[in-house]
Amino acid sequence: MKKYDINPDENGYFGKYGGQIIPPDLKPIFDEIESFYLNIKNDEDFQKELRDLLKNYVGRPSPIYYAKNLSAKIGGAQIYFKREDLNHTGAHKINHTLGEALIAKRMGKKKLLAETGAGQHGVALATAAAVVGIPCEIHMGEIDIAKQAPNVLRMKILGAKVVPVKMGTKTLKDAVDSAFGEFVKDPQNTFFGIGSVVGPHPFPMMVRDFQRIVGEEAREQFKEITKQDPDALIACVGGGSNAIGLFSAFLENEQIDIYGVEPSGRSLNPGDHAATLTLGKPGDIHGMHTYLLQDEEGNPEPVYSIASGLDYPGVGPQHSFLKDIKRIKYELASDKESLEAFMELSKVEGIIPALESSHAIAFAMKLAKKMKKDKKILINLSGRGDKDIDFVADKLNI
Ligand SMILES: *Cc1c(COP(=O)(O)O)cnc(C)c1O
Repeated sequence: MKKYDINPDENGYFGKYGGQIIPPDLKPIFDEIESFYLNIKNDEDFQKELRDLLKNYVGRPSPIYYAKNLSAKIGGAQIYFKREDLNHTGAHKINHTLGEALIAKRMGKKKLLAETGAGQHGVALATAAAVVGIPCEIHMGEIDIAKQAPNVLRMKILGAKVVPVKMGTKTLKDAVDSAFGEFVKDPQNTFFGIGSVVGPHPFPMMVRDFQRIVGEEAREQFKEITKQDPDALIACVGGGSNAIGLFSAFLENEQIDIYGVEPSGRSLNPGDHAATLTLGKPGDIHGMHTYLLQDEEGNPEPVYSIASGLDYPGVGPQHSFLKDIKRIKYELASDKESLEAFMELSKVEGIIPALESSHAIAFAMKLAKKMKKDKKILINLSGRGDKDIDFVADKLNI
């Protein structure tokens, strides 16, 4: 019996977290996705198509790199990276957007739909939609559109329709509502391509399963390189997909310490961070019960992080479960520490990491110092930082 690497119960709950907190008329839509997914999961033809795309299109397996220079400079535990930054499109997100696009296509859906904040999820979904051959529509706040011109262009060039959201805050929060409004117009023919291990069941399970490949590859590769398992695993947590992808393959081995790193932003005051598991309380958001940064009425609080992929007030329900049963420790990295880690990895190893991934690196650098030299840490380098260089240059006056 597995204790940690579990599937949700028949109602979609990991312990008390998850579920399908959605209008009753939408339940059949999500139930249909669940049963379709459970059937196709073990379908040889589907798996072959997905595996072929992951290998020849994404470029998997992504390597594991021993960061010799960084490890020597820190002088503690040895640091290794799982290089999801080397995937086509530069991050781990393509692993699950391809899975979602293939399922949508096989279910006969007419359109892939999603919202995006900074545009990373939008680009990953538009890419998958292009290669799988299904129309794609991305809702994005007008303010975000103005800030993220290159990603908007990418989505358009990839053939997606980008819908500007003019209501409310004109950012991610209202883009979610706008995309959801579009979804309920025709839920039969639309597939909502959720961007992380969040949302109503079966998405937290399904997206996790698509990201498991990260951990499964890493376990084999790490054994081959070092003849052992890592002593510690570290990944950043926004919604939690890259983290659970790596962690899943190692959860049952209790010898391994596992750390998820959340953004403590510019301070621990409400609105200055997105440290959901550290500072939130259980509540409901986007169709699930999970830890949530919320005000007294239970409404989601505004969140902030230097890394736009991490600023989400909720978190995947399996993380909430793994926190409560104390299998994973959730730690913090601030904007400042993450910027320093971004610069350090770039200068010492010649790898420019995404600002999201830099949170994991920042915490790893602190942890490594406290560990003996014969210990080994494996970090999920969830994405590359090319998208962040203008912002960092501006911030640090480079
Ligand atoms: C989106 C993103 C994240 C955060 O999403 P998770 O679901 O928590 O993995 C982390 N790193 C990169 C590079 C991203 O693009």
